[in-house]
Amino acid sequence: MNIKILSANANLYSTKRLLEAAKKRGHDIEVINHTKCDIVIEKKNPVIYYKGKQLDKVDAVIPRIGASVTFYGTAVVRQFEMMHCFTTTESVALVRSRDKLRSLQILSRAGLGLPKTIFTNYSKDVKHIVDQAGGAPVIIKLLEGTQGIGVILAETKKAAESVIEAFNNLQARVIVQEFIKEAGGADIRAFVVDGQVVGAMKRQGKEGEFRSNLHRGGSASVIELTDEEERAALKAAKAMGLGIAGVDMLQSSRGPLILEVNSSPGLEGIETATGKDIATIIIKYIERNVD
Ligand code: ADP
Ligand code: GLU
Repeated sequence: MNIKILSANANLYSTKRLLEAAKKRGHDIEVINHTKCDIVIEKKNPVIYYKGKQLDKVDAVIPRIGASVTFYGTAVVRQFEMMHCFTTTESVALVRSRDKLRSLQILSRAGLGLPKTIFTNYSKDVKHIVDQAGGAPVIIKLLEGTQGIGVILAETKKAAESVIEAFNNLQARVIVQEFIKEAGGADIRAFVVDGQVVGAMKRQGKEGEFRSNLHRGGSASVIELTDEEERAALKAAKAMGLGIAGVDMLQSSRGPLILEVNSSPGLEGIETATGKDIATIIIKYIERNVD
């Protein structure tokens, strides 16, 4: 099979592992940088040029598109779709997952548990926003943030109001969210491939840190999900239309609450924590879908 990994950085752990797993299974695989692809659109003849050369038939692509290049990356994935190439992440699902607010709305409609979330068009009535989120402490998140940067815990109502006002003044969009204290600075990442949870880990923030992101110094350990958590993770991936998803959840007194669904989940943390070969599971997912 001819497989391309769409990645701007061939040196990332995830990219290297997928490359290695596909080669081991006898596939012809190559990393191509989607930001260097040219797209040619004309009547019924979609073509992609990479570094000046037209790409031959590709059977499948594995998009590993960074958040900062979503727009162009998605256009490249869409072009592969037009060329009848299988993709482990569909372009519509990719775009959906990159919009935090839209994602929460989709998850809410699917009946999933979520931290109560408020979003306004820079409303001046910040008191009301904080009240709606259940009062202080509240979580304030920059709509565009990733890796825990731009996630703030405002301990008091006064602090919450002034932070929201400051962001409003900068015209930076934020969501205000109920703080789930009982999560205890930890969250759960369930790695879903093709309708199955193939690995799960608990990430614990370092001492005194409410954010559990590994990028913020958190540590990961393998966990067994409850049936309820497993069902929630699968339902979330399905609602988002993602064949591969990293579903982040908080453990709360009212059951699992979905924080976000990552469409390009990293392999390093989950493979290290679980000891599982998730890269090969992804390659087998492709094999089941391409004949
Ligand atoms: P990012 O996409 O930047 O990682 P998240 O929304 O996942 O942002 O938040 C980062 C971390 O902060 C989470 O992994 C979790 O540990 C913590 N966190 C986020 N939202 C809440 C919340 N509402 N209540 C408690 N902790 C939260
Ligand atoms: N893109 C990374 C992932 O999905 C982010 C992980 C993190 O923030 O800890 O695994």
